[in-house]
Amino acid sequence: MICEMCGKDVTFCKKVTIEGVHLEVCAECSKFGTEARKEAPEPEGPKPIITQRLEVREKRGKPRDIYTSQETIELADDFASRIRDARQKRGMSQKDLAAKINERVTVLSKIETGDMRPDEKLIAKLQKELGITLKEKVSAVVAAKESGPRGALTLADLIKMEK
Ligand SMILES: [Zn+2]
Repeated sequence: MICEMCGKDVTFCKKVTIEGVHLEVCAECSKFGTEARKEAPEPEGPKPIITQRLEVREKRGKPRDIYTSQETIELADDFASRIRDARQKRGMSQKDLAAKINERVTVLSKIETGDMRPDEKLIAKLQKELGITLKEKVSAVVAAKESGPRGALTLADLIKMEK
């Protein structure tokens, strides 16, 4: 049998869990793991050399170039509660805040209930006045090669499907 850790050809392999990964390894390498049925202990301190080797294996195994990670900065989903909480913490009424940012109370009220999304200008004013952040980084993993023929259906496809 081949040890999955060091690649040595040995007569007997032990099933162990190393950093949560199940492997069949030789007696020498099994020292790094726990018996398969047990939970692997939390890794502590600097990464042992064995973890680094496993990471190299992982990288070889999965091609990463298919995916690209995209980061955009968007209005946070919970913008409404962020504004409301910050305003209440400062002991301001909606009327007070609306006056400070030179906006109508009805607009602010709609924003605080999430019925309306503030535009860039209003976001900036609210952030400045309340000392909060309303935007956050959103990262999306996009499959770069996925936009091929399996992408959006064309009208021609729909017509074919109807027949
Ligand atoms: Zn080994």
